[in-house]
Amino acid sequence: MTATQEAVAPAAGQDLPVVGHWVDGVRSAGTSSRTADVFDPATGQVTKRVALASREDSDAVIAAAARAWPAWRDMSLARRTQVLFAFRELLNARKPELAALITSEHGKVLEDALGEVSRGQEIVELACGLSHLLKGSTSENASTNVDVSSLRQPLGVVGIISPFNFPAMVPMWFFPVAIAAGNAVVLKPSEKDPSAAIWMGELWKEAGLPDGIFNVLQGDKSAVDALLESPKVKAISFVGSTPIARYVYENATRHGKRVQALGGAKNHMVVLPDADLDLAADAAVNGGFGSAGERCMAISALVVIDSIADELIGKITERMSGLRTGDGRRGCDMGPLVTGAHRDKVTGYIQEGVDAGAELVVDGRGGQVDGAPEGFWVSPTLFDKVTPEMSVYTQEIFGPVLSVLRVGTFDDALDMINSNPYGNGTAIFTNDGGAARRFQHEVEVGMIGINVPVPVPVGYYSFGGWKNSLFGDTHAHGTEGFHFYTRGKVITTRWLDPSHGGINLGFPQND
Ligand code: NAD
Repeated sequence: MTATQEAVAPAAGQDLPVVGHWVDGVRSAGTSSRTADVFDPATGQVTKRVALASREDSDAVIAAAARAWPAWRDMSLARRTQVLFAFRELLNARKPELAALITSEHGKVLEDALGEVSRGQEIVELACGLSHLLKGSTSENASTNVDVSSLRQPLGVVGIISPFNFPAMVPMWFFPVAIAAGNAVVLKPSEKDPSAAIWMGELWKEAGLPDGIFNVLQGDKSAVDALLESPKVKAISFVGSTPIARYVYENATRHGKRVQALGGAKNHMVVLPDADLDLAADAAVNGGFGSAGERCMAISALVVIDSIADELIGKITERMSGLRTGDGRRGCDMGPLVTGAHRDKVTGYIQEGVDAGAELVVDGRGGQVDGAPEGFWVSPTLFDKVTPEMSVYTQEIFGPVLSVLRVGTFDDALDMINSNPYGNGTAIFTNDGGAARRFQHEVEVGMIGINVPVPVPVGYYSFGGWKNSLFGDTHAHGTEGFHFYTRGKVITTRWLDPSHGGINLGFPQND
């Protein structure tokens, strides 16, 4: 039996399997009778249910992590490294299995799901270098015959709360680093696609991670609140929409925790007149419609200097006509949206754009698809002449809707981005080094692409936005990730000799 099949257990008296929790190295059904539906978005069918933890279930999972933690904290760096390497090898060998599981619950096309796993794997590879990343420092003779050293120690139990759009990669932004640094993890995945987390739990067990160090708690607000409030949980890494990120940040800090809460986004791509318009059109289509626009780094606002707008829109429209929307298992370019409710929200925004007077160049509602009619479809959609007060611009649509905003100058483009409340990612397309350099210097956004539409940083740099796209001050993975999951100690040492004798009540001076 593969890990995928083991991830779900049949529900007593029901025909659909229920995805449960992963605690202490085994699956657990928990005690709650509450469940939520899990869909196959390409068929529109409910294929599973997911357990929604009671407070008692949540407390039990957190307690298991707390029990397991001290032994892992004390395990040598050499042994921890071996476990991380084993996890990396298993993940690399079996990622098509995980990708298929993601496609079946999220809907993104298989190739994109595989890409997500590979980007997550980068962080596992970073974490394999834990012995180097956790090194402290020493200063000999900081004062005469006095040495000072620093070291970093794990926090204990840490909570990770993740969104639906990257059920493998986003958790992997955090848990490889948290575990490598010597913490115990409770992951609360999105209830929309809960199985990837269980699959990864089983992989950790196979890799030799001690039971109780990686746990999965399935649930909704109740499970999140349990993590935010439990005194056993020392830090929270959250990724999701901005209102929930703000809620998590405020509540978890009130309970004395360290928090990084990554929120929503509205990512602008600026195209200057000197850019190669064919390459810019390719990038706009890839960045706007990849994963059906359900990426926090998706391009949703295309800010174009008016003189080239008609030509660029022509090239984009031409490319859009070749895109195939359909079932992610059939080699299509773009899959469905995650749920029927989300599809309705996205089509609602499209109608609002029309009503507000934007020009609907390509309407993705009711387009042809290669999939079951009940699937949650919206095909790629393009608006022109969008203005900043329209809801298609002010709201994070999180669907395959690209809006062109025409501006007169580079400064107008920069002002528009800097006036937006979000600051996750942005891109500029130009061959003018001076303009690009000014853009990277002045734009108030955390991740910037220069002729790169989706500038997700590599694992050894850190991921995170500015303004309403991140609450807290530490970004994910890279050295910032190791810093987040550890706390520092500084030790001042002297080995006594007669020169240290004598009474002196003054503040210690170094000499
Ligand atoms: P969401 O905010 O609805 O859910 C995120 C997590 O919060 C889930 O685990 C969910 O169960 C939980 N949650 C939902 N409602 C809650 C509530 N009332 N109280 C407590 N917890 C609650 O987000 P989503 O729809 O799953 O994901 C899409 C959003 O995530 C988009 O806004 C996207 O931009 C954002 N996102 C941001 C980044 C980033 O790096 N900044 C990355 C990926 C996704």
